[in-house]
Amino acid sequence: MQKLELSLRTLTPLWTGNISGNSIHIRETGLLGSLRWWYEGIIRGMGGSVCDPLPEGHCEFKQEKPEPPEQQLCPACLLFGCTGWQRRFRLEVTDLEPIPLFFVASSGVYQTSGNWLWRMFGADEAGGKKQGRGSSTKFTFGVQALWGTETKLRIIPLKAFQGNISAQLSYLLNIISKWGALGAKTQNGFGQVIVNGLNEDLITNGCQELKVVAASSQVNHNKNNISQNQLKNYFDLRRFFSRIYEIGHDNPYKTAGKLIGDPCGFNYQDFFIPCAFDIRYKSRSRNPFTGQGEDFGMRPWFKNKKQYDSKATDILFGKSKARTDEDCSGGRIGVSHLYRKQRDGSFYVKIWGHVPDSLGIEPEDVAREIDMFVQTMFRGAKLRTEFKQKEALGS
Ligand SMILES: [Zn+2]
Repeated sequence: MQKLELSLRTLTPLWTGNISGNSIHIRETGLLGSLRWWYEGIIRGMGGSVCDPLPEGHCEFKQEKPEPPEQQLCPACLLFGCTGWQRRFRLEVTDLEPIPLFFVASSGVYQTSGNWLWRMFGADEAGGKKQGRGSSTKFTFGVQALWGTETKLRIIPLKAFQGNISAQLSYLLNIISKWGALGAKTQNGFGQVIVNGLNEDLITNGCQELKVVAASSQVNHNKNNISQNQLKNYFDLRRFFSRIYEIGHDNPYKTAGKLIGDPCGFNYQDFFIPCAFDIRYKSRSRNPFTGQGEDFGMRPWFKNKKQYDSKATDILFGKSKARTDEDCSGGRIGVSHLYRKQRDGSFYVKIWGHVPDSLGIEPEDVAREIDMFVQTMFRGAKLRTEFKQKEALGS
């Protein structure tokens, strides 16, 4: 079986966080979880069926059953494994180094955003520190992220598999790096990567193969009897959008931004501005004492539109009053940090998301709303690339 050897360049830091919240060492399981999530969305997008996305809902392989594994397991479990059935490949990632965790926020929201992010990344329980008060609060994070300019990524097929693992994963990694993000906490800017060494023929073959896999997966893998309505909420590439905007050469946060955390000398502005939280959540806020001003950010932008009530906003962006990390980093819309493909080059931002059927709003409508938001937030921003479903799914 053919090994797949690729190299990866991080455009924004990668997060694969372990249980205590740190991401100092690469956790392959953190990457595998995101690979699987995209694989499932692609299979659904191709009209196929996969089991419940939560591990409790995964298929189970029973050796004693007369049916072959292909009939017992859904395509995602066949490749990524489940109870009684091992993952069909090994993922090896090397040459990633820890970098300090820090963010940039508009100065008016520095303290509130700092508190949010500080809590989201483990607060003092993870070794972080918070000193001072008000706008002079100094936040220090106890956890780190990962960075790699020439990270090696190897995919080693392990077991017999009906299909070409290298082709399927080439196609998968191409979709993820182009239109989404890799790893965890991708809604909040992490995981923008360039994958080098992908082979166009392998990508095309992988796409063709997955279409066959999807077409033959029509058996019901629905172990927990998920209703059709629930099913409509699961990630499906047919209900997806992704757009990349060019912001220009100047760092929009140069004078208006303030650092949360300490980059410890890392020359981050050559590569990225970690401001996804500022864009996605809030960069200006209404003064709660005087009532003056207004909230500005992607979330309030949607909430103020007639066709998006607060329930729809919660579905797209996660709950605003969430107390736990899971809840506040949730939601279906992801925003990258501002990133540069080369030093001194333009800054870009990628915004993508899954708009579930149950919302009654089309992905294109959400994307158009985002166009207007981005052009309001970053004057002169230009839409450079947009996700095309037919092209991505090879249909
Ligand atoms: Zn399954």
